[in-house]
Amino acid sequence: EDKWDAAKIRAASAAHVGATWTPSNVLDDVPILVKGEGVFLHAADGRKFIDWTSQAVCTNLGYDVPPAVIEAVTRQLTELPHVYSGLGMVEPRARLAALLAELLPAPLTGLIFPSSGSEANEAAIRIARRFTGKHKILTQYRSYHGGSGASLAATGDFRRWYAEAGNSGFIKAINPTPLMFSWSEAGDAAETDGAHRALAALEEQILLEGPQTIAAVLLESIVGSGGTFIAPEAYMRGVRALCDKYGILYIADEVMVGFGRTGKMWGFQHYEGLVPDIVTSAKGLTAAYLPLSMVAMSAELHEFFRTRPVGWGSTYQAHPVALACAYECVKHLLKHDLVGNAARLEPVMRECTDHLVASHPSVRQGRVKGLFGCLDLQGVDGKYMQPLSGPPHAAVKPFRRALLDEGVYGLVRPPLLHSAPPLVIDEPTLRDGFARVDRALSVLDKELGF
Ligand code: PLP
Repeated sequence: EDKWDAAKIRAASAAHVGATWTPSNVLDDVPILVKGEGVFLHAADGRKFIDWTSQAVCTNLGYDVPPAVIEAVTRQLTELPHVYSGLGMVEPRARLAALLAELLPAPLTGLIFPSSGSEANEAAIRIARRFTGKHKILTQYRSYHGGSGASLAATGDFRRWYAEAGNSGFIKAINPTPLMFSWSEAGDAAETDGAHRALAALEEQILLEGPQTIAAVLLESIVGSGGTFIAPEAYMRGVRALCDKYGILYIADEVMVGFGRTGKMWGFQHYEGLVPDIVTSAKGLTAAYLPLSMVAMSAELHEFFRTRPVGWGSTYQAHPVALACAYECVKHLLKHDLVGNAARLEPVMRECTDHLVASHPSVRQGRVKGLFGCLDLQGVDGKYMQPLSGPPHAAVKPFRRALLDEGVYGLVRPPLLHSAPPLVIDEPTLRDGFARVDRALSVLDKELGF
């Protein structure tokens, strides 16, 4: 086989490859990646980057694929590469379902396995609508639930504008952590007071919509791509109570935070006693080595669908090779206590984040939970650098370049800058990553005119 050089790859890409969330020409000057190693990525031109956001917050185990994963995947590919999930039974599906049921709190005992986070939410919405016989799905404005029809209509951020037409029944609440006002008269300090006001507003909204029309509330346990927002505990527990009061299912979207990102196995475990009816997850389930997601449902829902179809499916769901991969990835996560690693590194994340806030006028504030962090970027006027939905500010291009020059690869979505390296990172490497971001932010300060 001939080896393609960079010029040939770029030419074929420009001629034939399309992007999706961005115009295709954005791909013209992204790095060509050839190899991963630990938490680092190597480019064809010899550059080496730290993977600062685990790509799309998914490569949680980094690039040294555990040998047990390679073995399991190879074995499955060799012995039986595919079984359509509706026709046959295979050990990897039963084994992974049993393991996940053990890791989830009771009564979350039923599992289905789509291929992406979007599909997991698509299926969860179908489950909720079919079980309750109701139609509406209540989510938050600051949220992302996926790029397919229902999951994008459920999404609260600007991306839903692509999917709103033709998708009815998706309603949005203001988050308990708003940007332009405080729910509490006493400011953010009085968190519980604010949480109760936000809950009162939510209850009024539920009553105005009609509880008899709402199938489910679907919430990211910790808002991820919207900027690492952690809700007050009283709010999240209160939402669960409202769901119980009005016969609404509670779906926790753990696609980004599930499997340890925030220092606990599940994001909802940060809100004591909160148990969802349905949990969706993906990404960390296979560390993105292969496409697989999960929908966990309560025993009651599982029982309901033993005699009725969910009415959702795809050829690739519960793909045996991906299931074998996921099982070993989860075992690896547990064996090496990587969830604990995320929790132990939280103080370092906080210290380094606080340092960036203190030393860069372009950094307005930062939030951290486990190995999940986000900085808010601002302009000289003290306002957010740009809306998340806006065309890129003129300072974005040189800032992106500065990050790459410092060897930092990852999601830059102004006014947000995420920090979410693989869960296998160690403290010196984490500190080194922040030092690189620190230097790149000096370029942003200048570009913004500070
Ligand atoms: N839900 C959340 C919270 C996410 O962060 C994402 C992806 O970023 C999704 C759903 C969609 O997952 P996928 O991109 O695998 O379809």
